[in-house]
Amino acid sequence: MPVTVVYPGTFDPITNGHMDIVRRAHRLFDRVLVAVAANPTKRPTFTLDERVDMACQALQGFERVEVCGFDGLLADFAAAHGSRVLLRGLRAVSDFEHEFQLASMNRHLAPDLETVFLTPAEEYSYVSSSLVREVAALGGDVSHFVADSVEAALRARLG
Ligand code: ADP
Repeated sequence: MPVTVVYPGTFDPITNGHMDIVRRAHRLFDRVLVAVAANPTKRPTFTLDERVDMACQALQGFERVEVCGFDGLLADFAAAHGSRVLLRGLRAVSDFEHEFQLASMNRHLAPDLETVFLTPAEEYSYVSSSLVREVAALGGDVSHFVADSVEAALRARLG
């Protein structure tokens, strides 16, 4: 049976670190569903639609990758899309505690839902959406960290 993995996140915006994780998952799973969370409490810089559009554009070369926005419980979203596997990225030990909490909560909510972790190439291990936004807002060059279309969107939004 084809296995769909759900890769959830805020993707504000999608970075080459996220894309590195998607590329690795694409080799391991039949279908990768990038689930862009509305996450209003994080006060994202880009709207949900903008984040979905940026992710779609950045990932358009991947045949078995889909992008979808969602609001609500991740466990419900995964079930609605026929997935029993969540994917998260681990950049460093500092990510572990939060990710462990999330995985444990999701297991409590949906005992059949497994969380798997992948690590990015070393060159992306220090990349985060927030740092990219900060550098872009200060006029720094983020071209190594995001797709061209995302760089253009950052420049338009943050200057
Ligand atoms: P969230 O708000 O859910 O943490 P993010 O978009 O920041 O959303 O991250 C989504 C997932 O991608 C998380 O598991 C995060 O650890 C992972 N991630 C973020 N940046 C990178 C990166 N540079 N390399 C690998 N994984 C990453």
